[in-house]
Amino acid sequence: MTVEAPASHLRENPFEIARQQLRAVGETFGIDGDLVEVLSECKKAVEVSIPARMDDGSVAVFRGYRVTHNIARGPSKGGIRYHPDVTLDEVKALAMWMTWKCALMGIPFGGAKGGVVCDPKTLSKRELERMTRRYTTEIINEIGPERDIPAPDVGTNAQVMAWIFDTYSMNKGHSVLGVVTGKPLLIGGSLGREEATARGGLYILRDALAKKGMACPDARIAIQGFGNVGSYLARFLTQDGATIVALSDSSGGLYNPKGIDVAAAAAHKGETGALAGFRGADPITNEELLELECDVVAPCALEQVIHGGNADRVKARIVLEGSNGPTTPEADEILEDAGVLVLPDVLANAGGVVVSYFEWVQGLQEYFWKEHEVNAKLNEIVTRAFNETWETHERRGVSMRLAAYGLGVQRVADATTTRGLYP
Ligand code: GLU
Repeated sequence: MTVEAPASHLRENPFEIARQQLRAVGETFGIDGDLVEVLSECKKAVEVSIPARMDDGSVAVFRGYRVTHNIARGPSKGGIRYHPDVTLDEVKALAMWMTWKCALMGIPFGGAKGGVVCDPKTLSKRELERMTRRYTTEIINEIGPERDIPAPDVGTNAQVMAWIFDTYSMNKGHSVLGVVTGKPLLIGGSLGREEATARGGLYILRDALAKKGMACPDARIAIQGFGNVGSYLARFLTQDGATIVALSDSSGGLYNPKGIDVAAAAAHKGETGALAGFRGADPITNEELLELECDVVAPCALEQVIHGGNADRVKARIVLEGSNGPTTPEADEILEDAGVLVLPDVLANAGGVVVSYFEWVQGLQEYFWKEHEVNAKLNEIVTRAFNETWETHERRGVSMRLAAYGLGVQRVADATTTRGLYP
């Protein structure tokens, strides 16, 4: 049985978008054309076939990828996505964005990404484990603590990282903590890693609201997606005093202008498996959520949800990109013209990879930090990146996206020039 991908959520080729963004950065920041050419390609892309035994005794054959975009600043870093719509070009785009993200944060990594075309919701835990262990084995020569370090992304979690860590370690004959991040705490994970992407988003949003003379208690916020990022973000923003007017997951959205009880909605999802049917709010669609009357909209699900067809209907003044690539370049222009402040993915969701860096360092040193130390260091790094991006945005009169990508690309370009072209 070969697993086929159904019709995709991707309206445009994400790798074309990523390259288009790179070209715009090259022009705006005067980066050497040859360097832009080098950076517009991925260093290495591996495609593997993953046969895995299903519980009924049959064999399913999945397709998997691991792409390294660039390693000029350090080993490549990036998550692994399990989703039916995964394509090689999506993984390449996500790998390129990881390169800019790590550079913008000033952490010593390049960019990578992995993906398996599958629907993890339809696989049993044992099927997922067998598939993950075979995928890990197929890419075992690509990954490693000094080479390429995976982490969770859409459709994967700490348990999947535990299987990757175990498979790699069994093959090496000893535990290799640095091979993967986002591991469970019990086996070398970092305190604060699971919450880190949302916590980084919270710090970035606080900084951005302050620039507008606002604070969380003044803000009405709609969040699309209730996975790792969206669910923690909703909780943290509630604790900070914000009003969460809308939430959603793949089953649909919830809207309550007076504010949703996030803990109760999460409990409902815990019991029923979906946000749909929660009594404390009215049902809305995922599309309607993006167009609500509110201060901040935070797409925390998949790519290209804000596009040329709906960007002019976004009423929020701030877009916080909790997911990677949620806004197309066409939508970016429309939002920019309308004066909407877009806090781009490489800035807004970088908290995850920053604490992944801390987990990698702790694993290599076998010395583990307290949670408040992790959070304080996270805040320091993302706030510095916000201030640098804001300063570039103001000084050059460019969008926050162009400023953030520009800083990231410039650092990678400088590293490449300094190292020189081999041979
Ligand atoms: N998948 C996350 C991202 O897109 C985390 C990557 C990592 O921690 O390496 O940033």
